[in-house]
Amino acid sequence: ATLSRSEAIVAFHAPAIREEARRRFELEQELRRAVAENQFELAYQPVVDLRAGRATASEALIRWRHPDKGVIAPGLFIPTAERSGLIDDIGRWVIREACAQAGRWQAGEAAGLTVAINLSARQFLDRGLTGLLEEAVRESRISPERIEIELTESAAMVDYEHTRNTFTRLRDAGYSIAIDDFGTGYASMSYLRRLPFNKLKIDREFVSHVDTAADAQAICGAMITLAQGLGLEVLAEGAERPEEVRWLSERGCALFQGYYFARPVRAEAMPETLADIGMAVAGASLLMSAGR
Ligand code: C2E
Ligand code: MG
Ligand code: MG
Ligand code: MG
Repeated sequence: ATLSRSEAIVAFHAPAIREEARRRFELEQELRRAVAENQFELAYQPVVDLRAGRATASEALIRWRHPDKGVIAPGLFIPTAERSGLIDDIGRWVIREACAQAGRWQAGEAAGLTVAINLSARQFLDRGLTGLLEEAVRESRISPERIEIELTESAAMVDYEHTRNTFTRLRDAGYSIAIDDFGTGYASMSYLRRLPFNKLKIDREFVSHVDTAADAQAICGAMITLAQGLGLEVLAEGAERPEEVRWLSERGCALFQGYYFARPVRAEAMPETLADIGMAVAGASLLMSAGR
């Protein structure tokens, strides 16, 4: 018998769909074990403030140290963690560990370095979030001023009332709040204007080749102006080349997080990394016009 067109499509794709379902299921099982055995670790990427001439902050970025497969990046497992609900346990661990690290960085070469924590949409909707943060901060003997909460533009859009209430509560408690991957979501300007947060993080998509790409220049320029107009800090994510840093700093962006200054590193390597950054910033006198 001959197949209809739609039957033929199903017959053709069925093995691939089954394969995909099996892969997802396997990943979820392995992730469950990873949670039970705590196979996660946090890397920290410095944030350079050109006005200060040094790194003043860092972002905690999760890695999965898989027993056989090596280190797995968050992009490959966070979506599955969200879908399965495993993100609840993982997210709680991230918050506790990142706060503990901020505590360890109260003194020494990395003294005062703030730590930014990424929250998933699901975590942000959890009513227990502020309580969890409060507990982690208390146990780590740090003040909430040392912690920044990062939420993507899309996650902030899920439930406006909830976002506004939670931002207000977090801000009142002393945390700072950054909108992550700015420009990749669908937040309207009127919506953003009414939310209390501190910082816009321009997505790497726009920062990459901003020195030569006219469309990226238009977008980054508008975002910097927007941030300045709203009294927000603005940070460029994923700057890899000095030309990008120069272009953005000349237009008033002073905060940078990207491979040009430093890759994410293990907490133990931070003092050494900070020293290298100090030299890089001092050497690059062209950058010092930032923020003027
Ligand atoms: P993000 O929050 O926007 O983090 C920035 C990502 O850009 C990181 O990727 C970082 O390593 C990468 N990056 C920084 N500078 C450069 C650069 O110059 N060039 C390039 N090519 N990449 C750069 P990573 O660590 O793979 O994390 C990817 C995403 O996973 C994060 O994006 C964040 O959305 C999510 N994520 C990471 N850690 C956590 C976590 O603890 N919880 C949750 N819910 N999500 C997390
Ligand atoms: Mg982030
Ligand atoms: Mg981002
Ligand atoms: Mg991003």
